[in-house]
Amino acid sequence: MLPLTPATIRASFVNASRKEASDLTLPANFDSLDWDQLDFLGWRDPKLERRSYVIVPSLDRGATGVLFRHPGSSPRTRAQCSWCNDTTLPNDVVLYNAKRSGKAGKNGNTLGSLVCEDFQCSENARRYPKAWYEGFDREAERQRQIEELQLRVAAFAAQV
Ligand SMILES: [Zn+2]
Repeated sequence: MLPLTPATIRASFVNASRKEASDLTLPANFDSLDWDQLDFLGWRDPKLERRSYVIVPSLDRGATGVLFRHPGSSPRTRAQCSWCNDTTLPNDVVLYNAKRSGKAGKNGNTLGSLVCEDFQCSENARRYPKAWYEGFDREAERQRQIEELQLRVAAFAAQV
């Protein structure tokens, strides 16, 4: 994805109040992020416990920001991330909750998604898959993983 400025990030939220957006703390490594290697920016607020953010590139808005609530616990059984769809995850997956945007959100509607706890999906999608058979094109499969992740995250952001 293309680099985003802090101002763009704060203005991108579809389900956060102006105060919530101004209260956020950027990730500690924000200045050294390798944007080329990210399909979306996701992080847990370093100061506000249980608050997380996902910023998804979008053609019409530039970026769509989603505020998440961390459930405070991980599912008891090992879950599969619904974004990177990786079955051999090196990290935990939690059920994140996002308030719906607009009227639905005001009525208490939320959207849940099982996602890698620290939003490692971009990294996971870039791992080379196993060569399942001779001549298996691992590079093409890796590219497919990345494209599918981008589609799933964009679909989620559009749903909020
Ligand atoms: Zn993931």
